[in-house]
Amino acid sequence: MTVRRFTLATSLIALAAPALADVNIYSHRQPELIQPLLDGFTEKTGIKTNAAYIDKGLVERLKAEGARSPADIILTVDISRLSEAKDAGVTQAVESDILSTHIPETLRDADNQWFGVTYRARIVYASKERVAEGEVTTYEDLADPKWKGRICTRSGTHVYNIGLLAAVIAHDGVEAAETWAQGVKDNLARKPEGNDRAQVKAIWAGECDIALGNTYYMGAMLNDPEQAEWANSVRIEFPDFADGSGTHVNISGVAMAANAPNREDALKFMEYLASPEAQAIYAGQVYEYPADPNTPADDLVVGWGEITPDTTALTEIANNRAEALRIMERVDFDG
Ligand code: FE
Repeated sequence: MTVRRFTLATSLIALAAPALADVNIYSHRQPELIQPLLDGFTEKTGIKTNAAYIDKGLVERLKAEGARSPADIILTVDISRLSEAKDAGVTQAVESDILSTHIPETLRDADNQWFGVTYRARIVYASKERVAEGEVTTYEDLADPKWKGRICTRSGTHVYNIGLLAAVIAHDGVEAAETWAQGVKDNLARKPEGNDRAQVKAIWAGECDIALGNTYYMGAMLNDPEQAEWANSVRIEFPDFADGSGTHVNISGVAMAANAPNREDALKFMEYLASPEAQAIYAGQVYEYPADPNTPADDLVVGWGEITPDTTALTEIANNRAEALRIMERVDFDG
């Protein structure tokens, strides 16, 4: 084991431990969410980790640090952010049988630059009182005038909604996707505002009947004394696409930094994340689904209903992000 000395290019954040570590992680995920994983990895391998929590500007920071960057690993959520990192050249390709065995092809980059560890679905939260079971069917159906004045969502340009629209493009083409975005906008109960949980609160308050949201927020709301009431006013519906390919999912993923000083141990960390043990720990912690189909989800998550994840590769969906953003701007979704 080599001891490596490094200096941080900026003093924006302080690393949690002394600046000597075997695997340095830049994480967009909060420290408390990943700590059990880091502990599990160290216990298993004896390799220490050092995690820096970087909420905003992770890619910019890696670019600024360049070859001097101490980062070995990037942990973040959403294919938008992972693709952004890949496009900026701050990640590198990783070949590993363990990663390709445990992580389905649809949940990793075609060039092996990023890998999904867990996935979340972008689903519909539906009012238990005002929406009948079976009423929510497909994403495409959300543009039907029967939902007029009944839908709430966060900003159309947020990465979660760009990911969903990019998937609609993959299924239905650009033109149909634009008509769809316009149709959903026409059905909104109010202008997009707030985060996913704020939409569930709006259902609870009677402002709308259905809302777009990510699955794990159900778990997060149930754990919050104030928000549990919001969560209990809704149930999760897993929409399909009209072509029957399943529910839209996105990932919480990992990539190796382009200038990783400690490639070997970083790879061990990535492979640990793909192991059933780590996937179970992480998925339980964040209420997401393990990427490995052989690892069961947490009981609470299983209780939300059966999910059939869309089989379209995230790499293909990621390629439609720019087009999706242009559509959101053309229909002035938030306006
Ligand atoms: Fe989120």
